[in-house]
Amino acid sequence: MTKKIIAASSLGVSNTKISHDALFVIEQLQKNNYDGYIVGGGIRDILLGKTPKDFDVVTNAKPEAVRKIFRRNSVIIGRRFKIVHVLFDNINPEKIINNRPIIERHIIEISTYRSSKVHKHNLNEHGKIVEDNNYGTQEEDAFRRDFTINSLFYDPIKEIIIDYTHGIEDVKNKTLRIIGDPKERYTEDPVRILRAIRLAVKLGLQIEKKSAAPFAKFKQLLCNENKWRMYEEMLKICLSGESLKCINALREIRLPYKVFPLFDKLFFKHEADAFALKILEKTDNRLKETNDVSIIFIFSGLLWSMVEEDYSNNYKNGMTKYNALIASIEQHAAFINLLGVTKNIFYAVKDVWTLQIKLEIPQPKNVAKTVLDSRFRQAWHLYTMRHEFQQVDTNIFTWWNKYLQENSNKQILLEELESLIGNQLALMQYKKRKKKKKQS
Ligand code: ATP
Ligand code: MG
Repeated sequence: MTKKIIAASSLGVSNTKISHDALFVIEQLQKNNYDGYIVGGGIRDILLGKTPKDFDVVTNAKPEAVRKIFRRNSVIIGRRFKIVHVLFDNINPEKIINNRPIIERHIIEISTYRSSKVHKHNLNEHGKIVEDNNYGTQEEDAFRRDFTINSLFYDPIKEIIIDYTHGIEDVKNKTLRIIGDPKERYTEDPVRILRAIRLAVKLGLQIEKKSAAPFAKFKQLLCNENKWRMYEEMLKICLSGESLKCINALREIRLPYKVFPLFDKLFFKHEADAFALKILEKTDNRLKETNDVSIIFIFSGLLWSMVEEDYSNNYKNGMTKYNALIASIEQHAAFINLLGVTKNIFYAVKDVWTLQIKLEIPQPKNVAKTVLDSRFRQAWHLYTMRHEFQQVDTNIFTWWNKYLQENSNKQILLEELESLIGNQLALMQYKKRKKKKKQS
């Protein structure tokens, strides 16, 4: 195969489009006489006129050597293949909460060139890669990557792009093409099918015929993937900015059930869940303006309908609101666990849900504290959506809107709340009495 070297400026690529942290990492690698290139989504998105969401770096330095350069600011992660994360703590001047600037962690991922030779002992009995720490040359690394457009190397110091796989041609023709023999590549790693669909939808690309043809035969292999990897893929779909279109495309290829149990439940097996559709529509729209979207909000919203149904039922059957909600969450815990949602995310989502009760029946003495809760923002968004779906009391919702306005008179509003809640409690007690009478 021929190696093409192209001046980046001729393709509209310049360092102003690259994050400072990625540039810093590459400078350090090159200063230490190693290669340092941006590869993958970062350079691909710039070439396609999109804003990259992150920058992956590739080098000929082994993970341990990379760690020696970045020392305490780096960690080696990964089992199937080791990579180094270099950590940056940046102050975001646009985000100040309680008079304090927010420090955001930014990670640059550095991987070492991998060998194109997949050794037999690294494959399991089905031909799938299980271990992958064979280092190689840049050229070998290029052919190990999934799609030609993901296999372009950008050197920001020399300002050149290196292309081994006709990736530039495919960028120009807006074509997504798998590298090598499609059947072999999907057997090695069936997740490439999902990546192809997501990237094609997200970037407006056509999947080349030969790359798409084996989907039907190999999609079944996705059922054997572990739930954590599928969880990551599901997240990427939700955060793609075109999640609804991606889900439609997955439906079109008739993705087997069990690959994404959450999508099965929300979109594939029954009539689509309207609340979940709205959550994804809002997320897609928001991603057109900002990258600042919350996974916790997305999950609390996607799972809300099922939790809400039992929450309502439990409450109607006489439990307190809090007990009704907790019981409902427990009823669904096994399913949530099956999705591969990490513990931290699950706990955060649970907080967003329990805050719904504080929003539904705000107690004057606790309101100020509720607003300061670290999950309040996500809880508020969920509550607002629930209002759109007529799940919450409009008077309380209106009260909250007034209370949250910056210059509102909090004292008067708290007094107003006393009587509002008084009325609400009276109504609730009346309903309970009526129900008891009916039962007796
Ligand atoms: P994005 O980050 O925008 O979702 P990406 O292509 O950068 O897209 P990453 O998961 O960050 O996705 O992967 C970085 C690069 O690693 C890819 O561009 C590709 O070159 C390579 N890669 C990722 N997953 C695979 C895979 N399953 N098989 C082969 N190469 C892969
Ligand atoms: Mg990436």
